[in-house]
Amino acid sequence: MKAVFTDREPARVGYFQSVLENAGILTYVRNQVTNTTVAEMPSGIFFPSLCVVNDEDYDRAIALIIEVRDGTPADLPEWTCASCSEAVPGGFDICWKCGAERPVQNIDV
Ligand SMILES: [Zn+2]
Repeated sequence: MKAVFTDREPARVGYFQSVLENAGILTYVRNQVTNTTVAEMPSGIFFPSLCVVNDEDYDRAIALIIEVRDGTPADLPEWTCASCSEAVPGGFDICWKCGAERPVQNIDV
């Protein structure tokens, strides 16, 4: 079990988990239930942490996460979150700030 992604935002960890699961990689999220008091601590140790179940998937998982985080496919336009107005890269199906789902009408822009 190796951690591939840790973030204070459970929505972002959940998003990358769905990316890896869609690629056929078994994952596990540590510290999934974390209250905000703990999350304000300087150490990231209590943040939700996405792990791969099989260590041999580690390199592929990291590559997928970097690809999704750093590259927005040209055919997926950036969209604006309806609930918090955050600009979200087109590769995300949920707002990475508040976790709201992408408005359906924005997909065909
Ligand atoms: Zn939002």
